[in-house]
Amino acid sequence: MIEISGVHKSFGPIEVLKGIDLTVEAGTVTVILGPSGSGKSTLLRCINRLEKVNSGTVRVDGELIGYEQRGNRLHELSERRILQQRVGIGFVFQNFNLFPHLTALQNVAEARHSALRKTKSQAYEKAHELLALVDLWDRAGAYPRQLSGGQQQRVAIARALALEPKLILFDEPTSALDPELVGEVLDVLRDLARAGTTMIVVTHEIGFAREVADTVVFMDSGRIVEQGTPAQVLDHPRHERTRAFLSKVL
Ligand code: ADP
Ligand code: MG
Repeated sequence: MIEISGVHKSFGPIEVLKGIDLTVEAGTVTVILGPSGSGKSTLLRCINRLEKVNSGTVRVDGELIGYEQRGNRLHELSERRILQQRVGIGFVFQNFNLFPHLTALQNVAEARHSALRKTKSQAYEKAHELLALVDLWDRAGAYPRQLSGGQQQRVAIARALALEPKLILFDEPTSALDPELVGEVLDVLRDLARAGTTMIVVTHEIGFAREVADTVVFMDSGRIVEQGTPAQVLDHPRHERTRAFLSKVL
């Protein structure tokens, strides 16, 4: 489903990703853990081409992201094609990023209408369904400022789903939330996982990782230090850096 191979990414002189190789199977949940500054967000942003890699490749469903291959050379895709690819890859941010001047329903429906070119009535019908799925059918007319952080994040998840993505990337989806609101968002992620949604989730919620992840990846300083099942990585980490990190977050 997702094949990341030899990805390097620098900002100026600073190399933030130092050769990332990672495979994600369709229908699985991958949780990425790691200290602040280790490159987790940058990796997610390279997958949906919010950032351009310096070298290496990202393939989603066999399709190269950001490039097309002609003969044995890679050519950069047009901005328009890159936007089309990005529509297929959902992204849920730490700070929700809803449009403040649109209601919950409009945030979901307008994304579907403009990006997938569905009719307004089809887009709004589906948006109602998706708000019900995240348990917000009764808040459709509310503006983001009238919603709690947990509700806003659930709207953001519904909006991501409205684009019928092949996979969804979550960048610390609960870390901006008050502790009592974390559970309702993780419940939605759990439902999506159960429904077979392919997801990559950057989070410090170890309990969630243990329960929901098929694969746990530990990153440090721009590299994948280790990966495996939750039992392997969380209970029997092989590397000292993983152990040190886990002892701080557990
Ligand atoms: P994480 O998500 O694991 O905390 P990030 O991917 O956000 O890590 O950042 C990794 C490193 O890259 C950090 O040192 C950060 O300051 C740097 N970085 C991230 N984005 C940019 C950018 N747009 N320009 C310059 N440096 C950046
Ligand atoms: Mg980050």
